[in-house]
Amino acid sequence: MKILAIGRNYADHIAELQNEVPDEPVIFFKPDTAILRNNEPFYYPDYTSDVHHEAELILRICREGKDIDRKFAHKYYDGIGLGIDFTARDLQAKAKAKGLPWALAKGFNGSAPVSEFLPLDLFPDLRNINFRLDVNGETRQQGNSRMMLNPFEDIIAYISRFITLKTGDIIFTGTPQGVGPVQLGDRLEGYVEDKKLLDFEIK
Ligand code: MG
Repeated sequence: MKILAIGRNYADHIAELQNEVPDEPVIFFKPDTAILRNNEPFYYPDYTSDVHHEAELILRICREGKDIDRKFAHKYYDGIGLGIDFTARDLQAKAKAKGLPWALAKGFNGSAPVSEFLPLDLFPDLRNINFRLDVNGETRQQGNSRMMLNPFEDIIAYISRFITLKTGDIIFTGTPQGVGPVQLGDRLEGYVEDKKLLDFEIK
């Protein structure tokens, strides 16, 4: 399986990092070795000193498809969960300054904690899903799917023009404002609506 992610998909987050609003979606990969499941702890690596949390709604792909029409995109995912797109902001800043890819800054081991997936029928309106991330009991990020510049179906349609999606792939759909560093000992708790889906520690 593979993990695909979209960057710069919430205007408020683009503003906080002083990035430009992209004319086309910014897409990147994380390898399957980035995944943490079942609330496993995140072990802070030694090659960065500025790991940021980016809380994101994630989609589970349930059938193979390429060149998917946005009208049919909803048939290609069957679960919504919460993920953290951990980003080594120091490595990313270096890469950005040189116009180089983000592979290591976004794809390092453990950089993709993912929750269980909730079935779509739990959500009466996919364009109105609230989610949030608390760190040590304090809310750091809050978002709603209606704030996305590219909604789910546009992300799926766009990516699948270039890259075939397969069952089991996961798509990270972008983070709202409030990203920031994590520290040893932090406890991260993530919610979709009122359901706690993530609860793990930084070690
Ligand atoms: Mg992100």
